[in-house]
Amino acid sequence: MPYGFTFDLRGLPRSFFEELVKLAYDSKIYRKVGRTARSLVKRFRVEELTGLNLTDAISLFEDFLEIQAANIMNRGRFRAASGRKVLLLPHCARKYMDNRCKAVFDPSIPTYRCAGCSPDCLINQATKLAREKGYDVYVLPGGSCIPKILSSRSYSAVIGVACGAELKLGYQILQKFGIPGQAVPLLKNGCAGTWFDLEELRRIL
Ligand code: SF4
Repeated sequence: MPYGFTFDLRGLPRSFFEELVKLAYDSKIYRKVGRTARSLVKRFRVEELTGLNLTDAISLFEDFLEIQAANIMNRGRFRAASGRKVLLLPHCARKYMDNRCKAVFDPSIPTYRCAGCSPDCLINQATKLAREKGYDVYVLPGGSCIPKILSSRSYSAVIGVACGAELKLGYQILQKFGIPGQAVPLLKNGCAGTWFDLEELRRIL
């Protein structure tokens, strides 16, 4: 036994662990994620399975770890939020990127509104799930429109789906607005044909 004493932490509230993550994050202990990411990448043979080189794989999973830490840190406030919530989706996950996509573009924000033309489109499926739960949904061409969306209505909480780098930027915006968020990272990136795990989104909604 590595410790010279026994312990049972089950009596501690969840908020204790959330605070622990927050402190770790704020005091930049999260930089240790580099070591954790490296070990994860090696243990799961990520280079071999994905074709990523070691440096890129480590950098990617450092972001994933930071995103998960931020999710844990914000989960309590996110769940407690009682006002209107919003889901922000990336336009690159649409089934079509040309005029076969019937989404309506609103240049004033700017964002797309999915018209539901294809049942197997990931954006369509995510939009339906979120609307059933009472969320507003925006399909974003980029992260720069987030402040405009958050200013347009007083949202109490946000779910964002994007690549890791965009999620980190989005998280900084949410901090400025004082709004809790949960993030779902893209598992396949690119300019088109991107992909995220719908089940992960369903669990958060
Ligand atoms: S389902 Fe929506 S997002 Fe997907 S291609 Fe059709 S209109 Fe575009």
